[in-house]
Order: sequence, then structure tokens, then C-alpha cells
Amino acid sequence: MNSIGSLASGLFLVLPLLALGGLGACAHQGAAPATEGSWSIVIHGGAGTLDRTAPEAELDAYRASLRAALQEGRDRLARGQSALDVCEAVVRILEDDPRFNAGRGAVFNERGGHELDASIMDGSTLRCGAVAGVRTVKNPISLARLVMEKTRHVLLMGDGAEEFAGTVGVERVPNSYFDTEHRRKILEEVLRERARTDAGAPSPGSTYGTVGCVVRDARGNLAAATSTGGMTAKKFGRVGDSPIIGAGNYADAFAAVSCTGTGEEFIRHGVARVIAARMQFGGQSLDQAARAVVFKTLKKDDGGIIAVDRAGNMVALYNSEGMYRGMADSSGRFEVRIFEE
Ligand code: ASP
Repeated sequence: MNSIGSLASGLFLVLPLLALGGLGACAHQGAAPATEGSWSIVIHGGAGTLDRTAPEAELDAYRASLRAALQEGRDRLARGQSALDVCEAVVRILEDDPRFNAGRGAVFNERGGHELDASIMDGSTLRCGAVAGVRTVKNPISLARLVMEKTRHVLLMGDGAEEFAGTVGVERVPNSYFDTEHRRKILEEVLRERARTDAGAPSPGSTYGTVGCVVRDARGNLAAATSTGGMTAKKFGRVGDSPIIGAGNYADAFAAVSCTGTGEEFIRHGVARVIAARMQFGGQSLDQAARAVVFKTLKKDDGGIIAVDRAGNMVALYNSEGMYRGMADSSGRFEVRIFEE
């Protein structure tokens, strides 16, 4: 190769690296550099089934549930646990809490049963695992993690996921374990409304809700976890965005994102991945990227997202009536909210 040829091929190798480095650097313009050992955590309990006129005691009970989950995450992070471990532990707490649409308290499908979806992702390695349409796994998020750790695959569904659950020793429960009166009433309302209007689509905002957790740990690693019962009166076999890596859940070196809302919209726009990609390739801050997607790409009442970036910045944004959410960090910030308060 002559010297011009070797110079050119050298540039081909170097330029993309420079470009990536440059974009990476401007992705965090305006963000305070994370101090060593600092950590951040954001959680959500869904953006659906929210009612501003609900009795204050009921809203307080939701706040208490969010506080308990957030406290557990905060304590684990302060003890130095990894982003992945904290995400799984916090989502398990939210799955076990019947107030939220994940695990116990999951919504009913149109046949009066429950099919659960979940996924988890490690931002430092891009390793990820997911399950869809599981019916007897008490904590789908833990099964998703085992898919990541014990198989060569990313997503297992239905009978295959159930069979896998039987080989890895996760806790199993009858499908009726997930039943709650509250969710049954919502199913009956949606089915009545459907029969009356003959419309397939349930009213927006009233029938979804999901749980999620995103973390930047003290070593600077990011992780995201999301778990859901899906949407009330969904078709048997319907899979939403929560177990679709890049749609309802995603983590890389730039951002960790967990979504809640009308899953079909989040799949269509690849919401979680697009937020991280806007930062990686477009040089946007976490706030800019998340705002563009939640308020421009998505439409009103589609739902919301929580996210954290590698500098520890946190966002919780929604285009619905509200979103059950909480955030905490190593500087002492600790707050839970439902509406704009
Ligand atoms: N995104 C979930 C789904 O479509 C529902 C939710 O967030 O509440 O399955």
C-alpha cells in the first residue's frame, strides 16, 4: 500500500473513533460529572389507573408502597450492591405489592387470566433477559434474569418460559394468586364498555400500569428492569413492550430506561432504545432525549418513562394524567410522587 493509501485507511479507522468519542463527550453537556461512589435510582409503578379524585388515603397507600420499594433500593445501593441486583430486588418488591400491575395485582386478560411479561438489562455488558406470557411464575423479573444468565437467548415465551422456570427453581404459584378484586372490577368495566361501544380499544390511561426500576450504581454501571401484567382485557397471547428489549426496557453505557403505557406505541417507536440512541448519536442530554420522545414522538396519554444516565442524572416524564414514581440518590434526595405535585 502506498503512503496515501495507508493514510486513508488509517483515517477510516481513526475518524469513526473520534466521532464516537466526540458524541459521547457532548452527550453529557450540562450534566454534573458523577462523583466516585455516587449512585442514583428511579422507580415507577405505572402511568395508568390514576384518578386525581381518589381518596387521599388511597393515594397515600400508593406513596407508602413506592417509598418502601425506593428505600430498599437506596439501602442496597448505599451498601454497594450492583445496579442489576438492585433493579431486580426493587422490581420484586413492586411485583409482590398488589397495588401495582405486575406480579400479584396484575391486570386480567380478556379471558379472565393473567399473562405476565418482564425484562432486565445490564448496561455495562448489554446482557439482557426477558420472559413473555408467563402464567405461574411469582416473580417474572427473576426468571428474566435467569434467561439472561443461564441461556444463550434473550427472550423466552409462554410454555417454553414456564418449562424453563421448572428447571431453575423459581417460585411458582397458581394463576389465581395474581387475582385482585380491584383489577377484576376494571376488567368487568372494560368488557362492559367494549360490548356497549363495540370498540376494541379500551379507554386510554385506565387500563395499564407497570413497574420498573433504573439504576446507576456506585461503580458507574447502569441497569434497567421492567415487569407488567400488560393491559386490561388484552387478547390472549398479546405481548407488550415490557419484555421487548429496546422498546419498554433498555440499558447501555449512556442510559437505562424503563417505560410504562400503551405497549404497542412503545414497540412501534422503540422508545427505550431511541432515548439512549439520541444521546449516543445525537449528543443530546438525557433530559433532551427523554422529552423529545415522551412529548414529540409519543402522543398524549400513551404513558411515560423513567431513566438515568451515566452521570447519575435522573428523569421521570409522562404524557398521561400522572405516574407513580420515585427517585433517590447518594446526595440525600428521596422523593415519591403521583401527579405534578
Ligand atoms: N406497557 C405495558 C404493556 O403494554 C403496560 C403498562 O405499562 O402498563 O404491556
